[in-house]
Amino acid sequence: MSGLDLIVIGGGSGGLATAQRAAEYGAKVALIESHRLGGTCVNVGCVPKKVMWYAADLAEGGHDAPEYGFAHSCGAHDWGKLKGKRDAYIQRLNANYASNLDRRGVTLVRGRAAFADRNSVTVNATRLTAPHIVIATGGRALLPPLPGAERGITSDGFFELTERPRRVAVVGSGYIALELAGIFAALGSSVALVIRTGAVLRQFDAMLGESLLKILGAEGVAVHTQAVPDALAGEAGDLTLRLRDGRGLGPFDCVLWAIGRASAVADLNLASAAVACDAEGFIETDKYQTTSTAGIYAIGDVTGRAQLTPVAIAAGRRLADRLFGGRGDRHLDYQNIPTVVFGHPPIGTVGLTEAAARERYGDADVTVFKSSFVPMYHALTERKPRCEMKLVTVGPQQRVVGVHIIGTGADEMMQGFAVAVRMGATKADLDDTVAIHPTSAEELVTMR
Ligand code: FAD
Ligand code: NDP
Repeated sequence: MSGLDLIVIGGGSGGLATAQRAAEYGAKVALIESHRLGGTCVNVGCVPKKVMWYAADLAEGGHDAPEYGFAHSCGAHDWGKLKGKRDAYIQRLNANYASNLDRRGVTLVRGRAAFADRNSVTVNATRLTAPHIVIATGGRALLPPLPGAERGITSDGFFELTERPRRVAVVGSGYIALELAGIFAALGSSVALVIRTGAVLRQFDAMLGESLLKILGAEGVAVHTQAVPDALAGEAGDLTLRLRDGRGLGPFDCVLWAIGRASAVADLNLASAAVACDAEGFIETDKYQTTSTAGIYAIGDVTGRAQLTPVAIAAGRRLADRLFGGRGDRHLDYQNIPTVVFGHPPIGTVGLTEAAARERYGDADVTVFKSSFVPMYHALTERKPRCEMKLVTVGPQQRVVGVHIIGTGADEMMQGFAVAVRMGATKADLDDTVAIHPTSAEELVTMR
């Protein structure tokens, strides 16, 4: 293959977006992918996770149904049947991605890529050369370096489960641990959440994690705090998680590690292209996504910054705009990225936490508005998970620098409020916006 303008390594969220945008500008692009198109998000991330989240949501609704006058709650759940339908949906998406590339004239090369030098990569013993190369190889789930860790699964294994494990331990305190613990619990597993400190989601406003732990506890999840794993013993179906302080938790049918992700760079032979990584193994870039070598760029999870699908897509599209669309200064601003933890209930957050705002602007300049209520839906139900909201504002104008919500609907509320924060909205702007009634979101424009 000759005359290439761009080689993209990795056909996940970021790689696909970059390749397609560049091709739309007329660039001659090759995209190399060793596994299924769509990468983590489509195959073992956002998409199958959200399908499971919908199932869990239905289960909760089914549980509440008799309180709304229905004769029955949801019946038994067939995990295997759902997996079959979910897998078929994802196969359709894989095929769509292939035809999207084809339609835009991007050459798809199936295989594992490695750098040969600063302008070339080899794949299947073929050498491809281009003036621009984008690394979009994403990451992989971590297993802890503990005896027996391989007896547990990661989020990849979660998507292979063909039936619901009866007793599960979920180890970790980030996005994946909280999302999957919530799904297991709602679908009927007995769940132990194992966290090594006393808190979860520690990068977010403290209100969110504290509230979610209370709700999970009320829904029957056993939360083990200050629990540092030491070893995983036993056989599948009868696993014991040994903790450093001597406690033994179990028995469990399944133990799921959700302790973070590492960059997928091991096979890339980065040294031959002089591409540098940071101390944790993520590829370092400047604000234009350029690595330590001119002409080689990295985007998405492999850079370790805000490991989210829309971030990988946005960084890749902006890079293509700059390289091939004549938009010289185009780059992604990594501030005020909105994000959702698809827990039960979900969490939506954007901007500074209260603690970060106080540190940056000083206590005197920060004003915080809070609301805590039981959503109207739960007026008729026995369970009463609260919705908690917080607006963090700064200065005499009370510019909104943080919006934090846990509660039903938080996932769908957040996008619009992220626009407002990005535009520099003040508390007065929110107050001047007419509420939509009856909703939970109206609380955000009526806080006092
Ligand atoms: P990836 O999507 O991981 O793509 C990298 C691709 O590169 C892969 O297809 C891989 O096979 C390929 N590759 C790697 N090395 C090579 C090589 N040497 N040669 C050829 N190909 C190679 N984000 C959200 O925004 N919302 C969510 O709800 C969400 N849920 C998630 C749930 C889970 C369980 C997980 C694990 C992640 C979730 N994420 C979510 C994060 C999201 O999936 C990632 O941020 C996103 O997929 C990153 O895209 P990427 O292009 O950087 O990498
Ligand atoms: P996270 O980085 O979110 O959380 C992992 C947490 O596990 C750490 O923060 C740490 O918390 C704890 N931990 C780390 N090592 C250990 C250990 N050895 N033993 C016990 N606990 C440990 O990683 P995830 O794996 O949850 O997810 C990876 C990334 O994928 C996320 O950061 C996110 O960017 C993305 N993602 C996004 C989703 C979304 O948008 N909805 C959903 C799922 C994933 P502490 O220090 O507090 O103990």
